[in-house]
Amino acid sequence: MKDEWIFDFIAIFPELIEPFLEVGPLKKVIDAGTLKVRLFDLKKTADNPKQIDDYPFGGGPGMVLKPEPIKKALEKTGDGYVIYFSPQGLRLNQTLARRLIENRHLVFICGRYKGIDERIVDKYVDLELSIGDYVLSAGEVAGIVTLDVLSRLLPDAMGDPDSAKTDSFESNLLDAPYYTRPRVFEGEKVPEVLLSGNHKLIEKWRRKEALKRTLLKRPDLLENIDLSPEDRRLLEEIIKEVLAHEGPHNKGD
Ligand code: SAH
Repeated sequence: MKDEWIFDFIAIFPELIEPFLEVGPLKKVIDAGTLKVRLFDLKKTADNPKQIDDYPFGGGPGMVLKPEPIKKALEKTGDGYVIYFSPQGLRLNQTLARRLIENRHLVFICGRYKGIDERIVDKYVDLELSIGDYVLSAGEVAGIVTLDVLSRLLPDAMGDPDSAKTDSFESNLLDAPYYTRPRVFEGEKVPEVLLSGNHKLIEKWRRKEALKRTLLKRPDLLENIDLSPEDRRLLEEIIKEVLAHEGPHNKGD
């Protein structure tokens, strides 16, 4: 049987998510029947669209999304793993994305204003999910980001299923650099090895570049990977090359 996923979004403005469903890997997985995205509009589940939000008890600025319309939307989505987008949540990364798609039915609640009534979080939410340490004004934005990240991991999303596997973070390494035609651009040549047709050499070069970029740009990632003896040898080579390139540091140069 074919693997299928359902992603439900509960939001005040689910129409913001709609255009993203019509392009790229997301459209591919939807067209292939691998993913069904359903949008639940809080303006419609509320008895009165004007009663989606209300003032916070205790006073203070901003509005809070009322619990009843969200509860009603949750009744419509049926059972699923319920995620509330929140800056206070677990931070999304590639590893967490792969874990999340182990659930075939995800329900995403998008907050707005000051957020949603905490009783919804306490009673119905399985996971609070953040897309980064900053505050958005709309959970729909977090929804679009998450939808994009998760959908490209589903079967049928990529023309070449191995493509996502070489992306940054997949093996805790950053991706190698890419070049396309022309061979010379503003005097800069494409690295010779990429034109060699020698796939073994190219693979080794890519691995080395991935290690180099990770070492220089995100050394923290290297703490979480099992480096093979070959990786360690490549890293030693890289360190020697970088040091040789930098030369001795002379103050006042
Ligand atoms: N008062 C809340 C922020 C509300 S922001 C707080 O400080 O925790 C309004 C909505 O935007 C939130 O309900 C949430 O759904 C969404 N949001 C804001 N920042 C987010 C982030 N970093 N990740 C995911 N969702 C976020």
